[in-house]
Amino acid sequence: MCGIVAGVGIENLESVLLDGLSRLEYRGYDSAGIALNSMEAESVLLVKTPGKVKKLRKKLNSMSTEERGLQFSAGVAHTRWATHGAPTEVNAHPHSDTAGTFFIVHNGIIENYVELKKRLIDEGQKFSSETDSEVLAHLVAECYDGDFLKAVAAALKQVKGTYGVAVLSTKHPDALVVARKGSPIVIGLTANGVLAASDTAALVAHTSEVIYLDDGDIALLSPGNADIRNLDDLPVSREKMKIDWDLSVVEKSGFEHFMLKEIFEQPKALRDTIRGRLDHEQGAAVLSGLNLSPKEMLDANRIIIAACGTSMHAGMVGEYFFEDLADIPTEIEQAAEFRYRNPIISPNTLVIATSQSGETADTLAAVREAARKGASTIGICNVVGSTIAREVDRGIYLHAGPEIGVASTKAFTCQVVALLMTALKLARSRRLTREAGISLVSEIERIPELAAAVLEKNDLIKEVAEKYSEAENFFFIGRGNLYPVALEGALKLKEISYVHAEGYHAAELKHGPIALLEENVPVVALANDVPGKEKILGNIQECAARKSPVVAITTEGDDSVAESADVTIPVPRSSVFTTPVSTAIALQLFAYHFANKRGCEIDQPRNLAKSVTVE
Ligand code: GLU
Repeated sequence: MCGIVAGVGIENLESVLLDGLSRLEYRGYDSAGIALNSMEAESVLLVKTPGKVKKLRKKLNSMSTEERGLQFSAGVAHTRWATHGAPTEVNAHPHSDTAGTFFIVHNGIIENYVELKKRLIDEGQKFSSETDSEVLAHLVAECYDGDFLKAVAAALKQVKGTYGVAVLSTKHPDALVVARKGSPIVIGLTANGVLAASDTAALVAHTSEVIYLDDGDIALLSPGNADIRNLDDLPVSREKMKIDWDLSVVEKSGFEHFMLKEIFEQPKALRDTIRGRLDHEQGAAVLSGLNLSPKEMLDANRIIIAACGTSMHAGMVGEYFFEDLADIPTEIEQAAEFRYRNPIISPNTLVIATSQSGETADTLAAVREAARKGASTIGICNVVGSTIAREVDRGIYLHAGPEIGVASTKAFTCQVVALLMTALKLARSRRLTREAGISLVSEIERIPELAAAVLEKNDLIKEVAEKYSEAENFFFIGRGNLYPVALEGALKLKEISYVHAEGYHAAELKHGPIALLEENVPVVALANDVPGKEKILGNIQECAARKSPVVAITTEGDDSVAESADVTIPVPRSSVFTTPVSTAIALQLFAYHFANKRGCEIDQPRNLAKSVTVE
């Protein structure tokens, strides 16, 4: 969940690591720390603090040159999202062994740390923190006999759980060891030195050439070199890849928050998701990563979409696409539930995992369970080279660019479009006619334009959101494929404003929740002019009769909702398959302006982290 940045042989190492950490702060941010091998002092400078990277930077800046040294050969840095032990200075990473020879930063959880810690204490080691991670430092020290990489490998062989780690040693001032299992590590090669991080966002300012480690890989990094092996010390070869985005994508570029920037990036992100993937002539989708044979597509008799949070809501929209267009019975499953119950899978079941980061622990576990049971697995991820992307049989990248705001926005709409194109591909090899396919292709092509048109309503949406900014409870209602969009609208609002918001199927309201409606409980109703609108008009009346103010999302040019709603936010007319995208964007803006008016910390909401890599 948290962030690692490490480097060796890099100029201005301290600021490179701190800047990298700041770019990772969205992943987890309750404490931060850094360890640097000082060239002058021949010792390690270790600085840690509870709180954000800003505080760490301040602490370093307040030290005198004598105290800290100026030139550093290697360093490891960390932002933590605590799992074991409170977010205190002592528990912040890096952690070291008793003698202060090895300093480690760790993402993930060491599941057998209690027994390891007990043994190490019995053997005389002194622990200073309550973390699970600290055992790693002591284990490395215990295994060390002169070979840095081998010591870390031997230590890692003793642990159960997940890790992305970077290790620094006073005995090897010009080297670092990094390794991964279940938590990503990417190596960045620069002209002189080598960097490593848990996320490419920390590296883009310095290099576009990266190597993603696989689970089970360990690497010795030294200036100009990355020697990658497995834990049995056998060399492995990993491809060098080019990152095709630049620094601007990880900066706010004039926007007040990353979330707002990412909402506004949607026309481009959606265009990038769609680019080159539609065949006008055949009315089909060309998804090269989804190389199912025509027979496999015809034989598919069930789809299960496993996902969590916002990605699960995208999957729920996808369920409508697969059933309506491709005639394949589809279920959406909370990924954790998929793993812990006993899902029924046949050889013709397609399991689709959707995850922005591609690292979501529960979704990854669902992929593994599906593969174990013989299903064909498909990944829909944004982060290239992520674990889910690499473990699935087939996949589609969103190409939405990095998403930094914790509350997912552009990844949601791009996931919906990726699912729509997947449904189109399957549909055309099953029952959808070429004509119907061609018409859907042109609808999909209009999506970026639709998104841009909704963004033009920003001022109106801001005004509406601010009007209700004192409400403490909200309902969001929708029908058909707008029902999951209502769930997503409610989730966005609660994530960033901490206001209680519930999403319901509009028909469900009167089966209980309607008891809560009163004049200070606004209802956001998705009343777009698509099938089901007549029914939702009735539901709006039910809310109005209980004096709840109704904010209705409507279709431009359709005035039929205005008389029963308090306020309307019209979005452009579009097909039933593309309306979820434009509607979701209106709700994202609503949540954003609502939370901003209330003074909330939008990009880093309390208790949340961007990619949930723990179960
Ligand atoms: N389990 C470790 C801790 O609590 C690492 C948590 C993280 O990934 O940030 O310190």
